[in-house]
Amino acid sequence: MSFDALGSELLARKQQSLYRQRRTLQSPQGPEVTVDGRTCLAFCSNDYLGLANHPDVIRALQDAADIYGVGGGASHLVNGHSQAHHALEEALAEFTGRPRALLFSTGYMANLGAVNALLDKRDAVFEDRLNHASLLDAGLLSGARFQRYLHNDPASLQQKLTRSEARRKLVVTDGVFSMDGNLANLPELAAVTRQQGGWLMVDDAHGFGCLGESGGGCAEYFNLGMEEVPVLVGTLGKAFGASGAFVAGSEDLIETLIQFARTYIYTTSMPPAVAAASLASLSLLRQENWRREKLNSLIKQFRQGCQQLGLTLLESFTPIQPILIGDAAAAMKISEALEAQGIFVGAIRPPTVPQGTARLRVTLSATHTEAQVDRLLLALESVVK
Ligand SMILES: *Cc1c(COP(=O)(O)O)cnc(C)c1O
Repeated sequence: MSFDALGSELLARKQQSLYRQRRTLQSPQGPEVTVDGRTCLAFCSNDYLGLANHPDVIRALQDAADIYGVGGGASHLVNGHSQAHHALEEALAEFTGRPRALLFSTGYMANLGAVNALLDKRDAVFEDRLNHASLLDAGLLSGARFQRYLHNDPASLQQKLTRSEARRKLVVTDGVFSMDGNLANLPELAAVTRQQGGWLMVDDAHGFGCLGESGGGCAEYFNLGMEEVPVLVGTLGKAFGASGAFVAGSEDLIETLIQFARTYIYTTSMPPAVAAASLASLSLLRQENWRREKLNSLIKQFRQGCQQLGLTLLESFTPIQPILIGDAAAAMKISEALEAQGIFVGAIRPPTVPQGTARLRVTLSATHTEAQVDRLLLALESVVK
């Protein structure tokens, strides 16, 4: 069999301005990163609170590495479940106000594991059409009847739920939509789901740390408990600045995941030192309110600046602040022109977002300065004109 077919598909992707390329960082995440020996201002990481390179978090990782070494060594159910993992699970349960929390190695795996432990072909899964790829993949893999409802539309969801006669009905949504920055209408989605006898699963990868008085994310922001959101997912690679993920919920939910979630059972536990680092970052995330306040003031500054420039922003008050461009090639061109000025902003194109909605996905971090946001606005002004 010839591999030529791959080459022609790659070429087509290039011609459509959809080709992806990596850059290689030589520095930690931060407002400024080093790439190929050059320092650039970055507005594209998910390190919203600036904890990925925080000295307390680094120290926690180093200290735990002295105790536990590097690798988890085995899966959690064999003998890879360390005291560092356990302590983090207990702290996350307390943080989310749920009886238990369970660690996964990544958010992708948490989503695949949770949906697939809960559903099979007798069931139905209802997903927002703009859900993160890992949630869509999780639903498709489960073999449950897969249905998408209109974006953030409780009426559309209700219509589909009413018609379903499935054994279990799992409604799945991002808490903060990762490419748009808007919040799911969780109070209404939760009410509809409960009324129809379903379960609501919220993936709050981008809400934890940024939303809520103490960084408890969408659930804290909307004050939704376990009755409303029985399956709550968070990731540790974004505002936590570490790596990994967790599912929080009832005793029965967590025991079900331990018994049946294949992405929990058949994989090596995350390095214990990463769990210890995440625990240190949880404490900063909860206590250092100034990070959320700073972030909110930068968001305001950025939005006002963009409005003055006549740029089309999406309805978002989170650190995800996309500028809608439309055409994929145009978005790439703007991103490249910004890069020429030493500024990184990711161009997000199909299939990550719907056709015709390519965008610059600007993300802000509490460690950016007002002057850096001004620099971005000036560069945008020069590039868009
Ligand atoms: C980033 C992200 C994930 C994946 O989390 P990882 O830990 O990076 O695998 C899952 N869901 C959403 C909404 C995300 O934005």
